[in-house]
Amino acid sequence: MWKLPKVDPLRAIASLFYPSLCAVCSEPVDQSEYLCAKCAQKAPRIKPPFCAKCSEPFPGAISESFACANCSHRTLHFESAVSAYRSRGIVRKIVHEFKYGKQAHLQHPVADWLVETLEDPRLHGRRFDLVVPVPLHPARKRERGFNQAELLAELLSARTGVPLRKALQRTRYTTTQTAFDRTERMENLHNAFRLRKNADMRGLRVLLIDDILTTGSTLSECARVLKAGGALSVHAATAARA
Ligand SMILES: [Zn+2]
Ligand SMILES: [Zn+2]
Repeated sequence: MWKLPKVDPLRAIASLFYPSLCAVCSEPVDQSEYLCAKCAQKAPRIKPPFCAKCSEPFPGAISESFACANCSHRTLHFESAVSAYRSRGIVRKIVHEFKYGKQAHLQHPVADWLVETLEDPRLHGRRFDLVVPVPLHPARKRERGFNQAELLAELLSARTGVPLRKALQRTRYTTTQTAFDRTERMENLHNAFRLRKNADMRGLRVLLIDDILTTGSTLSECARVLKAGGALSVHAATAARA
């Protein structure tokens, strides 16, 4: 079972000296919160129906299992990729500030969105042996100062008690993915990841973590490498999806 203590003890101590403020509008908030209710409400939650594999929402009702446009005609190597929010509006803004604005404190509200994925039926009650972050290339990590996926995975690991292992390594400094279409992304990612030395994945059930799912190509490629290393299953969770 997941244990999800709401209050980080260090933050609780800090709040004795500093009142907690909303990360967006600076209104005072409860010490267990990072966003005020008004700002939190603006985060666009993904509501059913959505693709069981990649969480892509779609309009209208559907009862049969299906492959969404994002998943059809390709193999995705993860069991499922779960996001609770869309990367739009306030979510997109906060994740962007966290990643590119060197606002590392914003890892907390972003991690809250990530942790919400654990309530999704595709992940809820499932046992994981390891939490593994999607790696950044060392040069990119130096540039940014941190790997956002690693920070999020650390927070999720602390909240769930599932150990974190940086099992993957990014071997190619890939150009930014955003300008590419799906096929180009897949090619760009080929052989971009490998298992770290001594990372034995045999028989392990992995929860793979990233900040945003765009097309799922990165998560799929990481899942492929983890499974080639013997992982039994790879589920993915991200704070938001495009
Ligand atoms: Zn606010
Ligand atoms: Zn899909």
